[in-house]
Amino acid sequence: MEKATIEKFKNLFLEILSEEEVSEGKLYPAGLEGDEVDIVSTEKANQMDFRLKARSALYLKKVKKSLQKIEEGTFGECEDCGSEITTNRLMARPTADLCIHCKEAEEKQENQLVNKNRASSKVGRVLPIDKLAKGYNKDETSTSDFQVSHMDYQDIVG
Ligand SMILES: [Zn+2]
Repeated sequence: MEKATIEKFKNLFLEILSEEEVSEGKLYPAGLEGDEVDIVSTEKANQMDFRLKARSALYLKKVKKSLQKIEEGTFGECEDCGSEITTNRLMARPTADLCIHCKEAEEKQENQLVNKNRASSKVGRVLPIDKLAKGYNKDETSTSDFQVSHMDYQDIVG
């Protein structure tokens, strides 16, 4: 990637970070003066802020990570395969860790997991054999556990 392009991303990240510092000051109301209604609504507002903050904290972590990558000279490299992430992709998603191919592969895998879970919850669908076997073994174990404890009980009574 060209140095000028990297510089643009660096400025973008620094801008995001400085904007966050400014809004951080706004998150806390100046005081809790007023009647109870005001206090309740302030608490609600703080809860919402907290949720927003949790989400933005994750994003900021990514931004900081990307900045670190710029310092290390690895910005724009795919974490998975090491190939260059296209500038177009970085323009759309500056904190991208993966190239489009690895990202698509990852998403495909996630979708397959979701579909698998959906399939197994539906009656009449064929379950993977290893899953069936595991389920059967589990039942067997619990039955024998019961028998053992039952025998123990007879021993004690006898
Ligand atoms: Zn890749």
